[in-house]
Amino acid sequence: MIPAIKNRQQRSCDVLVVGAGAAGMFAALAARGVLDAKGQPQPLIDAAPDVVLLNNEARLGLKILVSGGGRCNLTNARVDEADYESDNARVVKGLLRGFPADAARTFFTTRGCPLHEEDLGKVFPQSNTARDVLQVLLDAVTAAGIALVVPAEVTRLEPPTTTAARWVVQLADGSAWQPRRVVLATGGRSLPKTGSRGFGLEELARLGHTIEPSLLALTPLHLSSAGPLAGLAGLTVPAVLTLAPRAIQSEQLSGARYRPLARSAGSLLVTHKGATGPAPFDVSGACGRALRAGEDVVLRGDFWSLVADSGPWAPFRNLDKQPGASLPPAQAPRAPSLDIFVAQTKALLPGERALAGALGTWLPRALTDALLRKAGLDPALKIKQLDARGQRQLHLALTQVDLGLVGTGGYEKAEVTAGGVLLGELDRRSLESLRVAGLHCCGEVVNVTGRLGGFNFQWAWSSGYAAGRGAAAAPLSPI
Ligand SMILES: Cc1cc2nc3c(=O)[nH]c(=O)nc-3n(C[C@H](O)[C@H](O)[C@H](O)COP(=O)(O)OP(=O)(O)OC[C@H]3O[C@@H](n4cnc5c(N)ncnc54)[C@H](O)[C@@H]3O)c2cc1C
Repeated sequence: MIPAIKNRQQRSCDVLVVGAGAAGMFAALAARGVLDAKGQPQPLIDAAPDVVLLNNEARLGLKILVSGGGRCNLTNARVDEADYESDNARVVKGLLRGFPADAARTFFTTRGCPLHEEDLGKVFPQSNTARDVLQVLLDAVTAAGIALVVPAEVTRLEPPTTTAARWVVQLADGSAWQPRRVVLATGGRSLPKTGSRGFGLEELARLGHTIEPSLLALTPLHLSSAGPLAGLAGLTVPAVLTLAPRAIQSEQLSGARYRPLARSAGSLLVTHKGATGPAPFDVSGACGRALRAGEDVVLRGDFWSLVADSGPWAPFRNLDKQPGASLPPAQAPRAPSLDIFVAQTKALLPGERALAGALGTWLPRALTDALLRKAGLDPALKIKQLDARGQRQLHLALTQVDLGLVGTGGYEKAEVTAGGVLLGELDRRSLESLRVAGLHCCGEVVNVTGRLGGFNFQWAWSSGYAAGRGAAAAPLSPI
């Protein structure tokens, strides 16, 4: 049962939170002072600010309910600023420290939602039911005496003026709220049917903020029908994906000093249009950005390193079910140089065997056939028969093949929207706008995007906590 208040008569409050998603509910709880920086419950005090939470959709928490395949991957055991793209990694680091993943876990476990950890640190409710996560938040909102008003679609934010000390927050039904402070938590543009359609981004721009343009992230990749993965729909394989300018040479790509535009390492599922899954998702934002800018880039696939390497992917190599997240960025291997690759193939592939058969013990046969075909290598050729040219061809085919990137998936498929208001225009602790006093921002409206694995909800909790605390702690306008 959703604790919603309809047609609430009272129209003023101390803190008005716009958007009751993960970030907004957390900001409201933090503003009310009912949790501390370790996620522990705190008693409600009489002097707590009066907090109201508005949401355009009557049905709440739709994104939480669909998240993690209905299981809600609500945080990760290991979270740091390297897991995010933003305009200021140090600010992200500070905010994550202010309300870390441990605090998020404590918040849920102390409120009756035990959690469990899966491969690569992904944290889910023990029940594997996203509804339990949502229920904890809704129960906490009710217990904290926060008025939740739905449906309440905000259409305009008018900051205080010299003659009016309060905000005027206009609603689609013609009514208005007059809070002292506003927390904007309206999300991005992904999955618009859940209610997040970009209102906050447009309003922040109108109020004079710089908005990093919205871009789909954590979305499938579209690959050319002439590419090496065409016709392999349904195939799952671990891969390292590297996005780099076309001009970058093979040796540079495997060099220790080269920093590609993006790199991810994890499972990849071939689709009819291209590829999806953790590794494609984690490079999709950078791919979309490069394509939008018209850059001449190549997405290269390395299907060799994760299977041949004894590194961090080794524990997952023979699992039937591959982890639903990528390796941390620092652990994503770069493609081996030709010398290393030749040494590896000598050690791992019996010289007497034909290429297709030998590789087939490490990689799906359909994939090796396609890669060899693309490289113009005869699958029947014995490993020991490969000359220097053949070794180079095999090296490129297995570790740097051009996947034929042509686009990224649509908003209906994207898990998050990258972009948003720049961190540089927000106070680093309270996330209050440096351009418009009394306006705090959190969640996906801010230019911070996590990779797959619970990092986006962690950003919602950490940034929501900072914005809510900041709004409650700041001196309130006199009226
Ligand atoms: C399919 C899918 C699966 C995902 N799975 C995961 C996962 O497992 N782990 C993870 O970490 N992340 C996941 N994410 C990402 C995660 O859901 C988001 O990053 C997170 O929900 C963002 O929270 P938010 O509160 O900023 O925005 P939202 O959740 O989008 O909430 C914004 C709220 O504002 C309301 N709103 C919008 N405009 C207005 C307005 N004008 N007036 C009033 N209210 C308004 C909306 O109705 C909504 O309730 C997933 C996303 C999708 C789409």
